[in-house]
Amino acid sequence: MQNNQQQGQTIQVDLTKCESIACDTVLLDEKGGKKICGSLFKPKVEMKIVSAIYSPTGSEITIPVMTFFCENCGKRLESGNTPMIYIMK
Ligand SMILES: [Zn+2]
Repeated sequence: MQNNQQQGQTIQVDLTKCESIACDTVLLDEKGGKKICGSLFKPKVEMKIVSAIYSPTGSEITIPVMTFFCENCGKRLESGNTPMIYIMK
């Protein structure tokens, strides 16, 4: 009993061949060399109000926007990230 009508195209990706996005905070090790802060991120939700002028529905809507923060230092991930946007009806 599978409903495939609402599923999009499935793409298989070998994640071992994909590069991970790292936090761009620069950390220095004991010898003064640069080291990566971290590549794990915590998701948080930011609420945005879209005014009627820009809203696709023609009336003001609130949308939760998923944003990600470095698990190590807490810095917001800005680069290489397309925010996932969900529209609440
Ligand atoms: Zn970090």
